[in-house]
Amino acid sequence: MCYFNGEFVPLQDAKIGVMTHAFNYGTACFEGIRAYWSADERQLHVFRQADHFDRLRRSAHTLMISLPHDRDTLCAITTELLRRNGFETDVYVRPLAYMASELIGVRLHNLDQGFVIYAVPFGDYIEAAGGVRAITSSWRRIDDTAAPARAKLTGIYVNSALAKTEAALNGVDEAIMLTDDGHVSEGSAENLFAVIAGELVTPPPSDNILVGITRDTVIHLAEDRLDMTVRERSVDRSELYGADEVFLCGTGAQIVPVREIDRRAIGTGQVGPITRAIGRAYMDVVHGRDWRYRSWVSAVYQREPARSS
Ligand code: PMP
Repeated sequence: MCYFNGEFVPLQDAKIGVMTHAFNYGTACFEGIRAYWSADERQLHVFRQADHFDRLRRSAHTLMISLPHDRDTLCAITTELLRRNGFETDVYVRPLAYMASELIGVRLHNLDQGFVIYAVPFGDYIEAAGGVRAITSSWRRIDDTAAPARAKLTGIYVNSALAKTEAALNGVDEAIMLTDDGHVSEGSAENLFAVIAGELVTPPPSDNILVGITRDTVIHLAEDRLDMTVRERSVDRSELYGADEVFLCGTGAQIVPVREIDRRAIGTGQVGPITRAIGRAYMDVVHGRDWRYRSWVSAVYQREPARSS
């Protein structure tokens, strides 16, 4: 089942026409939300869905789209959708707000708008256990003066797709994009952190990143669980070569250690202790096992939680 323009319908019945504006011009915005299955609680937990819908609203505002519901209703619809599908596995939820008019003419004004949420079973987006290999992409991260990377707009993902495929065709797993002025921005669908001289460093929003919810989660976990302050500052490409650790993070990717960049080993070439600790802490939080962050997860099924830790 999916939620399509106001109704729950079978996914195969949720169709759009070939002339749909968003399909022709990339005029849509979206989110990627994960829900994690906890076998011991027999419960599906959605992670930070309210924060995702807040970002969706900001993205939609940039496109002059108004979402059909407020945040609480969007969360309730998502929960209901997951319940109706009866998922007992990890799931990826994809809300999309899009320009639905079927006409020729590139613009944002005077168009009909559509809204859909679908959900699919989802495992690892990147096989990451021992760390991934990355290259610096020859494609620069799109600048805010051209199209805003901080808004999650479908059209902008051509930038990510070019970079990701360039990396794959070069035999590695991921691409790291630089800004127009040569600073590290982010991966194709992940934010980047580096351990440099004992500090955890991450590029600031002004370096054309999508301001990730996983990134924010990592900042909290580093401070609360590892007693490390995260520094948001511009990072040079060559700083990464000398970093002790680098990892990527995102809803789909989760916490992904980077063991090599541009054929140079990062640190020991193995998964570093800070990356490992953040990865473990993250998995506890998203599965609802860390009660300090329990407010970030919302249960789909109506069962009493068995508080164990
Ligand atoms: N940057 C880009 C370009 C992305 O597509 C994503 C995935 N949404 C991220 C960063 C990470 O964002 P989040 O942690 O909110 O998923």
